[in-house]
Amino acid sequence: MREGGRITAACLKMLRQNTKAGVSTKELDEMAEEFIYERGGKPEFKGYQGFPASICASPNAMIVHGIPGPYRLKEGDTISLDVGVRYEGFVTDSATTVAVGEIPEATKGLLDTTRECLAAATDEMRAGKRLGDVGHAIQALAEGRGYGVVRDLVSHGVGRQMHEDPQIPNYGRPGTGPRLQPGMTFAIEPMITLGDYDIRISEWDGWSIYTADDSLAAHFEHTIAVTEAGPWVLTEE
Ligand code: MG
Ligand code: MG
Repeated sequence: MREGGRITAACLKMLRQNTKAGVSTKELDEMAEEFIYERGGKPEFKGYQGFPASICASPNAMIVHGIPGPYRLKEGDTISLDVGVRYEGFVTDSATTVAVGEIPEATKGLLDTTRECLAAATDEMRAGKRLGDVGHAIQALAEGRGYGVVRDLVSHGVGRQMHEDPQIPNYGRPGTGPRLQPGMTFAIEPMITLGDYDIRISEWDGWSIYTADDSLAAHFEHTIAVTEAGPWVLTEE
């Protein structure tokens, strides 16, 4: 999973570098697909429950699961880019939200907070900690700053399959839930909004998930292993 995680990380880095006004989400998808295959991986999203593309590309008020298409990014957009790679039988899953050019201060605050939520949750990924501690770390930070924490979409186990048990809500009570043990691997993915946490699934494509109130959303994700020595982020270069 470490090797696959490196490919996932490098793919996201490449996508970040190519995220600029004028590029279409379909073009980003094609770059990612070629990048992953060239390195001996397989884009895990393609064909997953019928998903038609290799990455999810979700701009602005779209939270996750956006299908890449003709939409061209414009100055001031934000976009969540989500990549899953299968490599030698194991899956790694990671996402980042990228600003296109200059964005308002409020948007920067949302992106910074969501990134910090992932870091706070990562720090809880230690043997003996409990899943409620992980969710609570995200919720306390985000809600403490007045943001919404999406509840209907969750972090999850990852390994031989992209989505494995348990599901981990990005909110929770400390000291509750199953205990973390060395060797467990999770995809932790806070989804935070400038508004409320309710979601709406697109009737148009059946995939794209938006905030119900059309507020901006941000999404950061890493695949993380629990080890004797502490959390090990597998989807960093
Ligand atoms: Mg993902
Ligand atoms: Mg995931």
